[in-house]
Amino acid sequence: MTSLTVNLSHLFDLFPLEFLGDRVFVSYKRSVKGVLDLKKLYAFLCNRLESSDLSIDLWEEEGNLVFYFEASSKVDESELVKLLEEFASRSLGETAQNYFTGRKLIFLDRGFPLMGSDFIGIIDRGTNLIEVKPCTGCNLNCVFCSVDEGPYSKTRKVDYIAYPDRLIEVFKEVASHKGFHHLEAHIDAQGEPTIYPYLLDLIRGLNEIPGVEVISIQTNGTLLDKDFIKNLEKAGLTRINLSINSLDSKKAKKISGTKSYDIKHVVEIAELIINNSKIDLLTAPVWVPGINDEDIKETVLFTKALLEKKGETQKMPILGIQNCLRYRFGRNPKKVRFRKMESFYEHLEKLERELEIKPLKLRKEDFGVHSRRSPLKPFRKGEVLEAKVIGLGRLPKTVLALSGERLIQVINCTLPIGKKFSVKIVRTKHNIFTAIPA
Ligand code: SF4
Repeated sequence: MTSLTVNLSHLFDLFPLEFLGDRVFVSYKRSVKGVLDLKKLYAFLCNRLESSDLSIDLWEEEGNLVFYFEASSKVDESELVKLLEEFASRSLGETAQNYFTGRKLIFLDRGFPLMGSDFIGIIDRGTNLIEVKPCTGCNLNCVFCSVDEGPYSKTRKVDYIAYPDRLIEVFKEVASHKGFHHLEAHIDAQGEPTIYPYLLDLIRGLNEIPGVEVISIQTNGTLLDKDFIKNLEKAGLTRINLSINSLDSKKAKKISGTKSYDIKHVVEIAELIINNSKIDLLTAPVWVPGINDEDIKETVLFTKALLEKKGETQKMPILGIQNCLRYRFGRNPKKVRFRKMESFYEHLEKLERELEIKPLKLRKEDFGVHSRRSPLKPFRKGEVLEAKVIGLGRLPKTVLALSGERLIQVINCTLPIGKKFSVKIVRTKHNIFTAIPA
């Protein structure tokens, strides 16, 4: 006989907890909002525990979500919690919303290949660095955002999330074409990757792949704290690329497009990474001409001082200043005079001389990145294929279609999910496919 009362607050946040009959509105690991269906949970537990003799209940107690479980057989508490976690991560998918953007969140299951799109899955650009994009969506609304992300986005209408086991599987498949040696797994997102609820599982899995020597992440740092950094380190993360666009509190808020943005917190995160972990730090400001010119210098000097204070040198560059470019579906701030890359490099060289810090103008070799073989591209530009709509695109009038083992983004298309149709491939860069209806 088992009778267990389990506090589920580590799994679910109450946002606020709301009951509607057998359905409970919860948020999962502060990333996903959704509905827990108690009838489905009961059926799931009966099935997995091979018993029909169960009794369950769920209620709120002093701000905690409490789960009651009773069975005539003996059930281990840790096994039960694992089952609850599995149920939550799979079943919330049906009703899920991104906690930060409020948009519908689509979980990519087995039927979705994780190659072919530029916003989710694995992206290979023909080098030993393989990009891992686990989810979309961001908690900020930066004025220069190249993908118009965040809760105020005017163009993104849906978010996607992939399971870590599938990402790891596809990463291995891509790595098998490159050779399992000197590989970097770079986690980034069309959005903020630290909102990904399975980030630690993903890093652990990548860390176990032979030949993966560097695991890096691009983050705005706002959701990190001391424990999170320690857990990232334990999981195997080796470098954090941290966005710091201004050290001035007001200006940093303005650039992030978010009133609650706190640059002091992000500075503390930079200090924690350097002083409390073995993870390398690379500060990665975006240089927005006319908006943060002086701030870039301050960020460079701040980063240099941080490392000097520790008295250690990193093998990797400590700064990765990025050029603010105009993007077709980006936010493109009106007052900015965008710089061409040649002019941007000249400005970096000038800054290198002025501040006596090198390198600021980076080459891929600075990170040990070099050319490597890629999986074959299955489609050619101009080719007409049969495809099937399997999901909404992120942008208006786009859909995601499946053909063979690749995702294809189809523009100028509003066909419903399940519809089969012909598409003409119009772009094939880096195993990323864009098509139009043929
Ligand atoms: S630039 Fe990065 S942090 Fe800022 S809104 Fe876009 S995805 Fe989010």
